[in-house]
Amino acid sequence: MTETSDQRILRGVAASDGLVVGRAVRLISGVEVQRTAGSPEDERSLLAGAITRALEQLEALTEAQDEMGAEILEFQIALLEDEDLLAPIYNAVQEGQPADLAWIRVIDSEVTEYREGEDEYFKARAEDLLDLKARVLAALHGNETGFNDHAEQTKLDGDIIVAQNLTPSRFLELDWTSYRGAAICGGSPTSHVAILARARGIPLLVGLEDAVETMQHACLAVLDAEDGVLILTPEPKTLEDVRQRQRVREGDEERADSLIGKAAVMATGERVEILINADDPRVLADVPTANCDGIGLTRTEFLFSEGVLPDEQKQFEVYRDIVNWAEGRPVTIRTLDAGGDKPIPGVTVDDEANPFLGLRGVRLSLLKPEVLKLQLRALARAAVFGSLKIMIPMVTTPEEVEAVRAQLDEALTELSAEGVAHACPQLGMMVEVPAAALTAERFKVDFFSIGSNDLIQYTTACARDNPAVTKLADAKSPAVLELIRRTVEAAARMGVEVSLCGDMASDPNAIPDLLDCGLRRLSVAPAQVGRVKLAVSRYG
Ligand code: PEP
Ligand code: MG
Repeated sequence: MTETSDQRILRGVAASDGLVVGRAVRLISGVEVQRTAGSPEDERSLLAGAITRALEQLEALTEAQDEMGAEILEFQIALLEDEDLLAPIYNAVQEGQPADLAWIRVIDSEVTEYREGEDEYFKARAEDLLDLKARVLAALHGNETGFNDHAEQTKLDGDIIVAQNLTPSRFLELDWTSYRGAAICGGSPTSHVAILARARGIPLLVGLEDAVETMQHACLAVLDAEDGVLILTPEPKTLEDVRQRQRVREGDEERADSLIGKAAVMATGERVEILINADDPRVLADVPTANCDGIGLTRTEFLFSEGVLPDEQKQFEVYRDIVNWAEGRPVTIRTLDAGGDKPIPGVTVDDEANPFLGLRGVRLSLLKPEVLKLQLRALARAAVFGSLKIMIPMVTTPEEVEAVRAQLDEALTELSAEGVAHACPQLGMMVEVPAAALTAERFKVDFFSIGSNDLIQYTTACARDNPAVTKLADAKSPAVLELIRRTVEAAARMGVEVSLCGDMASDPNAIPDLLDCGLRRLSVAPAQVGRVKLAVSRYG
């Protein structure tokens, strides 16, 4: 694409895939105007009124959301009801500060604390506080509808929102039937807004070069959330290319849909197994079993969705239902991988300087043998119902595998002694620590599954939740591909199965690289099965 005097190409990071053309509408944030303080009583009641209005807006918004959206909004509601958070604001008002200034100061200092803390969960929640800050400020400044921002003119067909930032609740408030996508200067591919956009199939660019103030409002634009650019006032040739790419994408979507229920076969005729990842077994209800060759990864962290680990019987029932869903196809269930970006209160360690390099996955399980044993007993019991395999996460040394095997043996002996029906499942491991990838042949396991998400972060030394290093954490870097290839070759020499279950397997653009590495078994996000099968069919 050549750049002309009118055409402007702004770079960003694609956070939710898509390619759309429309009018770029600016969403302008209101200025944080500070007022002169009235009497403390007046300021107090103004603040209380604004908080009540904000609460009402959030509650109304929550009702219309799915589980993920509602969970984000409920956290914000809980913050607004948190007396410890509100007390210093009311105190400052009592001492004569205007309500808006008191609100801004306290929330800003909370945001700083959230961001500077060690806890990844709270770091991610800083954006919720900023979201609340804007909402209550808008209410304080008399805006009844929620925010001080506004799309600058009445809706045009096919609008693309361009904004400094979009908070999660603002995202949920927008009527996405009228907008085709968004490009924002803030955000990161792992932010809540990005997760919401992906779940809803709304194309989104984050980290956009700042252009909101200078762009011509309502100009024609291309939101290219494939290549990570927003093109303002595209020249005719650019538009023609984009239209052509859109036609190809539409054709691909149709082809991918037609392949969903079929076996994945390469252009050479060679078969590739496509399994699915089940992060939450509830999603399986919407997935026809026949669409996949089994389940390649079940992340059992979902077990803690209600805060505590279910007992053995409850776990057994959950695992049995998953195995029954698979109708004889293999089902890989991973032991708990708590820690890192998945803290579980009461299970993980709070004060680690670097949780990704600390007690997570099998390291933690071995420190909590009672939790591990319970899980292994429940898994062995569910294995009676089909082909269940147990997978160990975050393995670094062969000794860790042997320690889990010893626990499994104990669990099997106990079940036999108790006369409880059970079977002996295969025991395999994730290859996601470079040390394991480099020395795979030292591990005595029944199978390997490569965890590209962690393998990439540990190989490139880029935290997977840090947007500033997203570009450096390149799945296709020669170092990552080399480690994948070595693991596949080691598995072949050992005669054990190998698959890949990280996000890389769900990315159609990465499929040729993975097949080049010799992989023939991939575990992917359920929504990506058709697209991955299409990419496989084009290889060879
Ligand atoms: C991985 O690391 O690629 C993986 C599948 O595990 P998780 O994303 O759960 O860490
Ligand atoms: Mg992992």
